[in-house]
Amino acid sequence: MTVSKSQPIDEILSHCIHCGMCLPVCPTYALTYKEQSSPRGRIRLIRSVLDGKLDPGGEFGYEMNFCLDCQACQTACPAGVQYGSLVEDARRLIYEQKKEPLRLRLVKWIVLRGVLRSKWRTKLAARLLKLVL
Ligand code: SF4
Ligand code: SF4
Repeated sequence: MTVSKSQPIDEILSHCIHCGMCLPVCPTYALTYKEQSSPRGRIRLIRSVLDGKLDPGGEFGYEMNFCLDCQACQTACPAGVQYGSLVEDARRLIYEQKKEPLRLRLVKWIVLRGVLRSKWRTKLAARLLKLVL
């Protein structure tokens, strides 16, 4: 993964202590309750790609683009992990490799339309997600 920010991506990743304090504020985790859809899970995915253990398409591509980049996790993080830089670099990598899954546009549209503000809409979105995940 290329590094374009002032702080090297490897250094940003090393700050994560896997405490999980970012999970309760993450809207995509609230929707799926899947670790890979949480900030901590995405950080692990990025680490795996950096270490050459995971292909930068498939699950990685899906989760990096499912992230809303709201940066609520960055605000909640006690270790000061610069999550925004991580996800931006990850997306750049995916874009360069042209592996962005098209189905994500639908999922992101649902989430960004304020679905999480309504209980029944959240349930509906969760059912839809089960179909496309
Ligand atoms: S809150 Fe910060 S240190 Fe804790 S798991 Fe999330 S990103 Fe890592
Ligand atoms: S930036 Fe992504 S990982 Fe962080 S809280 Fe928002 S949706 Fe979750």
